[in-house]
Amino acid sequence: MVQNPKNVPLLDINRSNQIHRDEFIEALTEVVDSGRFLFGPDVVALEEEVAKYSESDHAIGCASGSDALLLALMALGIGPGDEVIVPSFTFFASVSCITRLGATPIFADIRPDTFNIDVGHMESLITDRTRAVIPVHLFGQCAEIDRICQIAAEHDIPVIEDAAQAIGAAYHSRPAGSWGLVGCFSFYPTKNLGGMGDGGMMTSGDEEMADRLRLFAGHGMRPRYYHQVVGINSRLDTFQAAVLRVKLRHLGDAVEKRSAIAERYNGLLKDHQLVGEDQLTLPFVDPSAFHVWNQYSIRVAGGQRDAMRAHLAEQGVGSEIYYPVPMHQQECFQYLGVDGSSLPQTELAAAEILNLPIFPGLTDSEQERVVDSISSFYHQSARAAA
Ligand SMILES: *Cc1c(COP(=O)(O)O)cnc(C)c1O
Repeated sequence: MVQNPKNVPLLDINRSNQIHRDEFIEALTEVVDSGRFLFGPDVVALEEEVAKYSESDHAIGCASGSDALLLALMALGIGPGDEVIVPSFTFFASVSCITRLGATPIFADIRPDTFNIDVGHMESLITDRTRAVIPVHLFGQCAEIDRICQIAAEHDIPVIEDAAQAIGAAYHSRPAGSWGLVGCFSFYPTKNLGGMGDGGMMTSGDEEMADRLRLFAGHGMRPRYYHQVVGINSRLDTFQAAVLRVKLRHLGDAVEKRSAIAERYNGLLKDHQLVGEDQLTLPFVDPSAFHVWNQYSIRVAGGQRDAMRAHLAEQGVGSEIYYPVPMHQQECFQYLGVDGSSLPQTELAAAEILNLPIFPGLTDSEQERVVDSISSFYHQSARAAA
């Protein structure tokens, strides 16, 4: 497909990767020549680097962010009859890890401003069957992880952080993934630290837990051909680790660029007078949070979100809805019988949210095109109403 050069993509992974092409080729050549495609030195080095970056004592590579979450719950021994509290407004993998083990997800509502878990609602859902809570650091901003960990500790419930979108994010200057018993990261190509395929990582400050995570990720096998538990096969391969080590060196710079783009959107949207109760709501940054801007998410009021998105598409401007269908409304979770009356902010967010293009390499003129297109949408509707 030939791209119209005037189109603004939601995401252009190549643009971010091309500038590091020589570094990738050099790192990958070393892997090819080493022949150590699994358990290679880059995997060990990346685990050490991510542990350090996330201020965790241990980090264990695995095949994906989804596996990281599943392995965390497997290592906790979660199964049928157990409840795990999780937001409904999240990506599927935050919830499927619970149901795959036969446990029951208990859906918490979100804060309307940050889209992250509503801690008061979370607390009200704790029962004597609650075995874990999975706060999600959505869009690159930490949930109120200090309060979450405090409440969970009072009830002796482990916290598993879904930090798939939030590597490098922090709360009170302490990194995502270092607060809970386990931090789960994804290296899916669209994430802030994105590989060239799938990959994931689990962090933990608990040595025994870290050891169990490694055991479960390797078929529960220890020593060779002696299986202590039924684990899965989930490995981060050396090619991905080599690529990710290159990208980790540039992650700080990439986050600065994302942050500058977010600031600029805020300014442009305000300047065009598009912000207000009957128009757009800008992303809210919790003053305790260091936001890494995996997504730039606005709310579109007045039931106009889908029409605006169609207008942007017509103008060649990419946008996306993360997430259009909350988990409690998914077909595969209907058996849970959750009606949504306790999740009003979740349902409202799904109806109003719109994610705009944000990636290192997005140009100033492209950002202006995005904002001009939003502006023309409102002018067009105003004309239609007149
Ligand atoms: C991407 C993502 C995952 C899953 O990661 P994969 O590496 O794609 O398996 C889990 N949770 C959230 C919130 C995500 O955004």
